[in-house]
Amino acid sequence: MTSNSVTDEIAAALRDSMSPRDRLAGWAFRWSLQCGQLVCVQCQASQSANQPEASFVHRPGCRSRREDKPWQELEMLLGAVAIRSSMRR
Ligand SMILES: [Zn+2]
Repeated sequence: MTSNSVTDEIAAALRDSMSPRDRLAGWAFRWSLQCGQLVCVQCQASQSANQPEASFVHRPGCRSRREDKPWQELEMLLGAVAIRSSMRR
């Protein structure tokens, strides 16, 4: 699907960006938070917030499956954005 591949390209560009804010935006393209569950937007598999160390289990055939610790990635990205913001003051 064309619209899907454009979205993928945007997500990939944001993911590879050096800016923590862009990388956080890229993360938000791939994951959503619903009622304390982190949900893969590709396959709708979910993981609870109380198991951030556990590897994320995607459904078979999911294109995002290589990213297996999204809670830790989010924590790292939020930390990077916070550090960047405090340096600017
Ligand atoms: Zn998935």
